[in-house]
Formats: sequence, structure tokens, C-alpha cells
Amino acid sequence: MGHKIIALGDGVRLLTGAPDECCIYLVEGKSSALVVDTGFGLEDIRKEIEGLTSLPYKVVNTHGHGDHSGGDMYFGEVYMSAAAEPDAREALELNKTVLPAQEIEKMRQRLESGSFKARYVSDGFVFDLGGKQIEIIEIPGHTEGCIALLDKQDRLLFSGDCAVKAMDILLVVPQAQPLSTYLQSMKKLRGRAAEYDALCTGHDLEPVGKEFLDSVIDCCGKIILGELLGQDIELPPVFGDTRAKRAVYEDFAVAYRPKSL
Ligand SMILES: [Zn+2]
Repeated sequence: MGHKIIALGDGVRLLTGAPDECCIYLVEGKSSALVVDTGFGLEDIRKEIEGLTSLPYKVVNTHGHGDHSGGDMYFGEVYMSAAAEPDAREALELNKTVLPAQEIEKMRQRLESGSFKARYVSDGFVFDLGGKQIEIIEIPGHTEGCIALLDKQDRLLFSGDCAVKAMDILLVVPQAQPLSTYLQSMKKLRGRAAEYDALCTGHDLEPVGKEFLDSVIDCCGKIILGELLGQDIELPPVFGDTRAKRAVYEDFAVAYRPKSL
């Protein structure tokens, strides 16, 4: 088993595994490395990472959802925003909604021997990897604790679940912020667009051109102005309130709640 590895250029690799699991990124500088997200935690991701790099490394979560933070239990210390920690601690619970019961049981056994310490990061925090600096940008929206990571040297922006082309952006999860908060965060990312060319998202198997953010911002602006009205959708009960809307604009799709614009 293990993850499939996709090289994205100089010192950046994408690890992809089970369906619905997030993209895990390994970014290497001259003196250290950074692991962006840890997946479901179905397998020992720490062992895999240490087989791929001999550099000392740090681990960071783009947010606390279980498909991004389930592997945190393999590492002693994980960086994340303070608002992401409760979700990261509940990753196993969150994963119950998407993973088979036997996998959850196996993970529960491993959890008993593993735990992690959360180290908080906020706007402007920089991971210095040696010749490569990775800056944290807070982008509340999909959850309150979402962050993006800007790698100016590789001209890549790691955007987690806040800018994804391969699937709908979910502003309907219990941790989601109002659509207008999400829109402000996406404008904040576009404001830095001179510093990167592409988005390494939480669920696309190749980088997405940064122009995608124009579709995201136009779409959300039109929803707020009432110029674009989504279709009614029915969510699974795990989302709490099952009524929501889904809007599609160019190559962007978002699930949102009209009462939380
Ligand atoms: Zn998520």
C-alpha cells in the first residue's frame, strides 16, 4: 500500500492515497522539510515521510478535518492554527462519517499509543526550510481555523480545502464561517497573487492555475449580491441542518447556507 508520489518540481512532492483523502505535500528546503497535512492516518505516514526525506522536518495542518489531520497521531508535534486544534483532536470522530468501521477500529488501537502536541501558528508565521520560506496566511471560511501556506521560492500556494477545483468547497460543515468571511479570505489570497503561480489544493492531483481564484471570488460576490442563486441540495445528516444550496460558476462549485451569507 502506501501513497502514490507525484513530483511537482524542485523539492515539492504530493502524496495521494485513499479516495477522499486529502493531498499530502512534502516540501524540502536546503536544511529542513515541511509536511503539509497528514491524511486519514490509515497507514503510518511518519514512516513514509521518513523514507522520502532524510532532512529534519515539521508537520502542519491546513485545518483540522479528519481527512487532513488523521495522521497527526503518528507525529510528536503538529503545527496548526489554534482554532483547528479541537477538530484535529476529534479527527477520529470526524473520520467515522467517511471511513469503514474496521478502519476506524484499527486507527483507534493506534491512537491509544500515539498522540501529538499542537503548536499554534498565525498570520505571518514563517517556516524557514533553508533557502525556502513558507509563510502562513490565515483564511477562515471552510472552517474557522483554515490556513494557507505561501512558498514564494517555488511560487506555490498550499490552499487546503479553501480553494479546490476537484470538488465543491463546503461552507456547510459545522465549523464553516459565513460566505462573506470566506470571500474576504479569498480576496486576501488574491492580494498576494504576484508571489505565486499556482495553488496546491487539498484535493487536486495537480497544481491549479491561480486564475481559479477569480472564479471563486466572482462566484461568491454574485451569490451575496443575489445575482447567482444556487440549486437546493440535501446534505447527509452528519452536517446537522440538511438543507443547503449549491452554486456553480465557471469551474468553481460551492455548497453554502443562504442564512449564512
Ligand atoms: Zn475540510
